[in-house]
Amino acid sequence: MSPQDQLVLFYKLLRQHGLNDSHSGNGSLKHDSSFTITKTGAGADLLNSSELSECDLNQIPSKGASLDAGIHQTIYQACPQHNAILHAHNPHTIALTLKDKMFSPVDFEGKLYFGELSVIECDADNYLTTMPNRISSALQNSPIAIVRSHGVYSAAESLELAYKWLCSTEQSAKIKWLAS
Ligand SMILES: [Zn+2]
Repeated sequence: MSPQDQLVLFYKLLRQHGLNDSHSGNGSLKHDSSFTITKTGAGADLLNSSELSECDLNQIPSKGASLDAGIHQTIYQACPQHNAILHAHNPHTIALTLKDKMFSPVDFEGKLYFGELSVIECDADNYLTTMPNRISSALQNSPIAIVRSHGVYSAAESLELAYKWLCSTEQSAKIKWLAS
């Protein structure tokens, strides 16, 4: 499977498993000095691998790339260990972190994976200028950055691992929701 096909596959899986609505979220995959990212307005149900956008790591993101392309770019620049980023609107995670400053899983696996995760404030009015640094700072020491009322960014060495962290976060939030 080509890297582009992998990116489309994992973006579709986020939608199919209820982590995104039809057109929310985004994903990218880093190459040497560039990255491939989903386009702005991409719809996971119908997306194919010819509809992705190529961006240089050190230049203004290509026209048509996801609005979050600058966030992905900043993460790749600040965190060279990460090769893949996925963003989703995990419903239970969002609902459980509307107020608290930290998210603490109560299940064994969530504790093991994450311990505690901080919740980043969402600067809705200046999202594209303020949030790249906030999110990339969180992802330097954690695979997960939770943005209050918005969603979750996951970064890892591979798309599969980024997908796993997003799913694990949502699973822990779901368990905590059920237990409360
Ligand atoms: Zn989003």
